[in-house]
Parts: sequence; structure tokens; C-alpha cells
Amino acid sequence: MKVLKFGGTSVGSPDRMKKLLNIINADERQIVVLSAVSGTTNSLVEIGQAYLASDKARAATLIATLKDKYELFIKELFNDEKCLSRGKEVIDYHFGLLSQLSNDLFTHIEDKIVLAQGELLSTTLYHVYLQEIGVPSVLLPALDFMRVDEDHEPVVDYITDHINPLLNKHLENKLFITQGYICKNSFGEIDNLRRGGSDYTASLIGAAIRSEEVQIWTDIDGMHNNDPRIVKSTQPISQLSFDEAAELAYFGAKILHPQSVFPAQKYKIPVRLLNTMDPQAAGTLITGDSVKDGIKSIAAKDDITAIKIQSSRMLLAYGFLRRVFEVFERYKTSIDMITTSEVGVSLTIDDTTHLGDITKELNSFGSVELDVNHTIICVVGDFGADKHGYAARVLESVKHIPIRMISYGGSDHNLSLLVKTEDKVEALRSLHSRLF
Ligand code: ADP
Ligand code: ASP
Ligand code: MG
Repeated sequence: MKVLKFGGTSVGSPDRMKKLLNIINADERQIVVLSAVSGTTNSLVEIGQAYLASDKARAATLIATLKDKYELFIKELFNDEKCLSRGKEVIDYHFGLLSQLSNDLFTHIEDKIVLAQGELLSTTLYHVYLQEIGVPSVLLPALDFMRVDEDHEPVVDYITDHINPLLNKHLENKLFITQGYICKNSFGEIDNLRRGGSDYTASLIGAAIRSEEVQIWTDIDGMHNNDPRIVKSTQPISQLSFDEAAELAYFGAKILHPQSVFPAQKYKIPVRLLNTMDPQAAGTLITGDSVKDGIKSIAAKDDITAIKIQSSRMLLAYGFLRRVFEVFERYKTSIDMITTSEVGVSLTIDDTTHLGDITKELNSFGSVELDVNHTIICVVGDFGADKHGYAARVLESVKHIPIRMISYGGSDHNLSLLVKTEDKVEALRSLHSRLF
């Protein structure tokens, strides 16, 4: 059974929604994961922020504007009067719920309820559309099977145990529709898999049902060899290994949610990145196999803070790095890059929630320096056994740009550079023109 995920632009208009059936084979048993209609989650974020700031008037205006869009959307989506009025009921219900939250004490719990409405709307409207045109389908409520634990980690066994009975209840059905992004947390509250999380939903379902393939349908023909929003004439990559794709996703290639590769990798499920606007294009196939052809792609991750700890006590001291790492562990802050010398260590983090406390504790080891507004440039490929020349080519390409850190050799497929964010665009363009 395949899992097909369609992103925001792929369901971004009534016309696009109708065209999904050119891609979905309604005669093959499969699960279709939908994102919210493009722009909706951003609007919901703003609505939540207005409520959190107790600005009910602004929340009401934002809700009314978004509702107007959906009123138009359903008018174009449905032909049949009965389905149109069913569509109207659907949007009245979800927007009624958004408005009703103004009566409650609004906390981050209610905020998650707001954010969940986008995927609930898109899937329910699509389900009603399929009914209108007589295509049988089953709407699977993601909140009944998608779950994260107390560390916000998805629990694949839980998902397996809860989705399979739902699928088995409908053995005669072929087409299943479900919401991306949304889940329940360990308190049983509505939560989500973070922005872009519908990709993660797809690969988690793929892992849970041991799917034959997960397809991520989006608005571009696969993973490109650089960020197409910044660099001109980027090219799609036909094949990537799970490790390479994970590095690119984690280090900023927006086409994939940072964590979405891991469930597929663990259960060896091939992932294909495909273009809804050009379904015939080959896209990118992600599997356990690595194609040995050197440098494949470049990605960039912003909002990085570098922390340098210098201490003469580090000299010959075993256990020093462990004590440094323990500080980050205590504050559940993950480290992206690390470089060491005999008298100092530099590392980077992107989550600065606990930076104050972390710095305070690190001060007891030596002098601590912080550099904010940095970007990790990540060059990914198969540097394999023959590591000859890759590092030299990368460094030669950015010799005119100040480099704060270099990390190479952590794996066979990643060379990362830390630069000031103001140098990012030049670094990406220069690497692109010289490496490809
Ligand atoms: P969806 O809404 O379908 O999930 P996203 O906007 O999350 O789509 O991801 C697709 C976008 O990712 C593309 O439109 C492209 O601008 C951006 N992107 C960034 N880096 C890359 C890359 N290396 N390859 C392909 N797309 C990328
Ligand atoms: N709708 C969510 C977002 O915009 C999830 C997704 O599209 O993947 O982040
Ligand atoms: Mg996305």
C-alpha cells in the first residue's frame, strides 16, 4: 500500500484539488495525506498569536478574512447544491470553533487547536468532493492514531496499533484520506509535528503500515542541488540515500521536513519527491542506496548561534567534552556542529530558548563567546572512501568569504561551513557555480 502526501500548493485551489485524481489511482489501495490549503497555516498562526496577545478584535478580523476565502473555495469546488451546503456546514463548523475560542482562556493548548483546523478543513472538503463525484473514500482521523510522546517524539508502534484496525475496518475500500501535521501528545491534547510536518506524517504512516513507497507530491520536481529560492538554474537530483536526504532536510532544504526521512529509513521504505504541476517528471528517489558521484547538493540553515568555550584546563583533560555536552543535555538543546582544538571548543545550536542558563553553566569551564546570526552551509554528497579533493574544492569556492567553523569527516556525506548570515547568499551562489 502506498502513501501519497500532497502539500499546501497541491491542494491550494479548488482546481488543484480536483486534479489530484489525475495522480491518485482510486483503484489502488492507498493512503492520501493532505496538508492545509496553502497560506492557511500561516493565517492560523496569526490568529493564535492574536488570541495569545488577547487581541480578540484582530483574531476576529483574521478569522473573517480566512473564512471568506473558504466561502469562495467551496463555491468553486462543488457543483452539486447538496455538496455545497455540506461544504458550508464544514466551514461553518471549523470557523465557528475558531471564533468560540475567544470565550475561553487561551493558552498554548488552544493555540494547537487553532493550528489543527487547516488540515481538518482540507481533508474534510476533499472527502465531500470525492463523494460528490462518486469516488468512494474513507476519511481517517489522524488524531485517532498519530501520537507523540513526552519528548515530542512520534511513537511508530502506537501509530501501527491504531491505524491498522481503522484500515482493517474498511477492507473493501481503496482510498483513504487523512490529515498531515496534526497529532495528539502524551497528555491526549491536540498537537502537531511542527511546521512542514505533513511530510513527517506521511513517512510515519509509511513506517507504521510498512508501506511499499511514500510519495511526497509538491510544487517542484524533486530535491534540487541548491536552494531554488536563492540560486538560479538549480537541477533536480534523481537519487539520494536516506542519509544524504536527511542531512539536506535537516540543514534547510525546505522540500522535506527535517525529521521526515528517519521513519522511512528505519523501515527501508523508498521515498519519492514528485511534482504535482508536472507529474511525469522523474523527481527524486530516496532509498538506502547511495550513488557514488561526489558532491550532490547544498543547503543552508539560518538562525544559528555559535558558542566558543576556551579553557586552558581542557589541555590534556579527559572528560571535558562530556561535561560540556551534559550542560546541553540538561537543557534539551541539540548541537549541530562542533569543532575542537586543544584549548577550546566551538559548537552551534539553533534553539536558543535556554541560551542564558547554558552560558551561565559553561562559564564555570572557561571563557565563553557567542556569535549570533550565523548560517550553516551544508554540502552533501558521497565522499566515500576516496575523499580526495572534495574539501579543497569547497574551500576554494568560498575563499573570499570569512568562515567561522568547518566540520568535515563526521560522516562520509557532509561538509558543513559556518558563515555569517549576511554572507549566505554569496556562499550558496559561489559554491553552486564552482561545484556544479
Ligand atoms: P509543500 O507545501 O508541498 O510541503 P514546501 O514549500 O514545504 O512544499 O517545499 C517545497 C519548496 O521547497 C519548493 O517550492 C522550494 O522553493 C523549496 N526548496 C528549498 N530547498 C529546496 C531544494 N534543495 N530542492 C527543492 N526544493 C527546495
Ligand atoms: N500545514 C502545515 C504547515 O504549513 C504542515 C504542512 O504543510 O506540512 O506547516
Ligand atoms: Mg512542506
